[in-house]
Amino acid sequence: MSFIGVLIESRDGEIKDSNFGVISAACSGDSNDVYALIFADSAEEQKEILEQYGISKIIEISSSQVDLDASPDLKAQALVDTMKQYDITTLVGLGSPVGKDLLLRTATRLNAPSVIDCIGVDFTDHTVTKSHFSGKTIAKLKIESDYFICGIRPNSYEAVKKPCTAQIVSYTPEVTDKPGVRVREIKTTSSAAVDLTEASIIISGGRAMGDADNFKILNECASLLGAAVGASRAAVDAGFAPHSMQVGQTGKTVSPQLYIGCGISGAVQHFAGMKTSKVIVAINTDKDAPILGKCDYGVIGDLFEVVPALTEALKELGGES
Ligand SMILES: Cc1cc2nc3c(=O)[nH]c(=O)nc-3n(C[C@H](O)[C@H](O)[C@H](O)COP(=O)(O)OP(=O)(O)OC[C@H]3O[C@@H](n4cnc5c(N)ncnc54)[C@H](O)[C@@H]3O)c2cc1C
Repeated sequence: MSFIGVLIESRDGEIKDSNFGVISAACSGDSNDVYALIFADSAEEQKEILEQYGISKIIEISSSQVDLDASPDLKAQALVDTMKQYDITTLVGLGSPVGKDLLLRTATRLNAPSVIDCIGVDFTDHTVTKSHFSGKTIAKLKIESDYFICGIRPNSYEAVKKPCTAQIVSYTPEVTDKPGVRVREIKTTSSAAVDLTEASIIISGGRAMGDADNFKILNECASLLGAAVGASRAAVDAGFAPHSMQVGQTGKTVSPQLYIGCGISGAVQHFAGMKTSKVIVAINTDKDAPILGKCDYGVIGDLFEVVPALTEALKELGGES
C-alpha cells in the first residue's frame, strides 16, 4: 500500500490557506490516505485544521543533526527519507516558489519525473492537466514512474472539508549529504502583504492608474478585502508598480476567487495570466474595452470614483484593515 504526502507550507507559523485546496485535490479519491508533511514542531496546533480537510496522519519532520532551514537541499533529502519510511509514492504541494523548489529537488533525488503548475491532477491515473501557450492549449500528461510528484497551481482546487481524525508522528530523517546551496538571508515583504499567486482576491491597476502614488487607493481597498494588489504590464512599464506585481503572460499567473481589474483594457497577454479567476470584475470608463466582454461583472465608470466608493462601502460593512 502506498500513500499520498502533501507538503504543507506555512507563513508566520500559520498554514497558508492555499494548502487546503491541494489537500482537497489529494483527498478527492475515496480510498486516498493522505498525509501532511510539515517542517515545524507545530503539528499539535495544526492538527485540528488539517483534520477538517481529510488529513489522516501528520508527519512532523525535524532533525537534531542539521538545521533543515539552512538549505532546500537538506529538506529535499529529509523528504526523500520520509517518503521511503512511510511508503509515500505520491508527493504533492503548492506550485509556489517554495513548493517548486522543494518538489523538484526531491524529484531529482528520487530520479523521478515531476510536473509543476498543474491545474488538474488525477491521483488514480497519475495524469495531470497543464495549461500551455498562455492558456490557448491544455495538455494532459501521464506520469509513468514509481513516484508521482506534482505541484498544483494555487487556488486551482476549491478547499472542501472532509473531517477525519489525524494521528501525529514525529520523524527524524537521515540527512547526511552536504548541501549544494545554503540560505544566506531571507528578505520578506510586509507580513500583511498577501502573495499574488496565492491570493484569493486580487485588485489590479492598469495604465489608467496614472502614477505609482495612485496605487494607494487600491492598497486601501485591498486591505479591507484581504486582497493582494496586482498590475498590468503597461502600469509596470510606466514605473507605477514593480514587476513582481505584474499579472499576465510575462508576469504572474493567478487564479483567485475574485479578480478586480481597474483601468485595464483586457489585452490577451494580460488575460492569459488571470483568465482562470473564478469571478472577474472590470472597472473601465470605456464600454467597448475588451475586458468588459470577458468579465463576469463590468462597472462602466471612473476607477478614481468607483474604487474609493467601494472602499467606503467596505468600511461601512466593517471589513478587516
Ligand atoms: C509579448 C508580450 C507580452 C506581454 N505581457 C503582458 C503581461 O504579462 N501583462 C500585461 O498586463 N500585459 C502584457 N503585455 C501588454 C499588453 O499587450 C497590453 O499592452 C497591456 O496589458 C495594456 O495594459 P493596460 O490594460 O493597463 O493599458 P491600456 O491597454 O492602455 O488600457 C487602459 C484602460 O484603462 C481605461 N481607463 C482609462 N482611464 C480610466 C479611468 N479613469 N477609470 C477606469 N478606466 C479607465 C481605458 O478605457 C483602457 O481600457 C504584453 C505584450 C506583449 C507583446
